[in-house]
Amino acid sequence: MYLPDFDYYAPGSLEEACGLLRTLGPGAKVLAGGTDLLVKMKHGLVVPEAVVSLKALHELKGITYDPDRGVVIAALATHNDLVDSPVLHKRFLSVSEAAHQMANNQIRNRGTVGGNLVNAIPSADLPPILIALGAQITLVSRASSRTVPLESFFTGPSCCVIDPVDEILTEIVIPNQPTTGSTYIKFGLRRSGALSVAGVAVAVTMAGDVIEDARISMGAVYPVPVRAEDAEKALIGKTWSEALLEEAGEAAACCALPISDIRGSSEYRLDLVRVLTRRALRRAITEGHV
Ligand SMILES: Cc1cc2nc3c(=O)[nH]c(=O)nc-3n(C[C@H](O)[C@H](O)[C@H](O)COP(=O)(O)OP(=O)(O)OC[C@H]3O[C@@H](n4cnc5c(N)ncnc54)[C@H](O)[C@@H]3O)c2cc1C
Repeated sequence: MYLPDFDYYAPGSLEEACGLLRTLGPGAKVLAGGTDLLVKMKHGLVVPEAVVSLKALHELKGITYDPDRGVVIAALATHNDLVDSPVLHKRFLSVSEAAHQMANNQIRNRGTVGGNLVNAIPSADLPPILIALGAQITLVSRASSRTVPLESFFTGPSCCVIDPVDEILTEIVIPNQPTTGSTYIKFGLRRSGALSVAGVAVAVTMAGDVIEDARISMGAVYPVPVRAEDAEKALIGKTWSEALLEEAGEAAACCALPISDIRGSSEYRLDLVRVLTRRALRRAITEGHV
C-alpha cells in the first residue's frame, strides 16, 4: 500500500497554518500524528491534494494548569503525553488512565488528543472521560475563534461541528470542579491495541455517602459519545448503595443505542453498559480520586 501523491506543507505558526488552509480550500487535510489520516490515505478512503502538518506548531503542544481556566491540553499532546503528565496526575488522573488504555505504545507516542476528537469515531476512548469532566474545546480559523462544549462537538459517526475547510482544534480545557471521583472503564477484545466494544466514564461529587452530582458518558454504544442522563438523574441526591448502582446501570442501558458488528452484538454491548456503569460508579465513589 502506497500513499497517493500530495503536496506537503509544514507551517511554522498557527496563523500560517490557518492561512494555508483558507488558501488551499477543501482539497487540503490537517495532519497531526497521522495514525488515522495516513491509514485512510493508504486505503484510498481519503485522497487530499495537500496535507498541512501541524507538527512544528509549538503553541499546540503541552499540558498546563491555569488557575482561572483549569487544565489546558494543547491539541498536539500525544496519548503518552497524557499518560505521563504530572499536571493530570495531580488533577485528573482518570484522563491519564484513559489514555493508557488506548492502542499500543507506538500509536500512543504519535496519536494526538486533537486527532482523536476530530476523527470522531464513536468508539474513541478520550471523548467519554473528557465529556464526563465537562471539557470545552477551542476551534480556530483565520477569521474566528470559538469555544464549544465537547459534549456538543460530535454530530454522527466520523462527523463533528468543526469546519472541515479551515478550522483547527487548538486546545481542550478541563475546568476546575468539585468532582470527588472519576474514572473511565473500557472493554476491548484484547488487553492492548483493541478498539472499545463499549466504554463508560463517570465523574461524581460525593458529600459523605450522598451523590451530589453525577455525569456518565458512554462510548461505542451510540452514533456519538453520549451522556446517560436518565442514569445521572437516578443517582443525584441519593445515598449510594449497590442497589442504586444497579438501577443506574439499567438506566444507562436505556440511553444506549448500540450497533451489532464484528466486535460484539448490540445485546452484548447493552450488557456491557450495565456492568461497566456499575463498576465505574463504584470505583469513582469508593476510590475517590479524580
Ligand atoms: C493500531 C491502532 C490502534 C488504535 N487504537 C485506538 C484506541 O484504542 N482508542 C482510540 O480512541 N483510538 C485508537 N486508534 C485511533 C487513533 O490512533 C487515534 O484516534 C488518534 O488519537 C488520532 O490522532 P492523530 O494525531 O494520529 O490524528 P491524524 O491521523 O493526524 O488525524 C485524524 C483526523 O483529525 C484531523 N485533525 C487532527 N488534528 C487536528 C486538529 N488539531 N485540528 C483539526 N483537525 C485535526 C485530521 O485532518 C484527520 O482528519 C488507533 C489507531 C491505530 C492505527
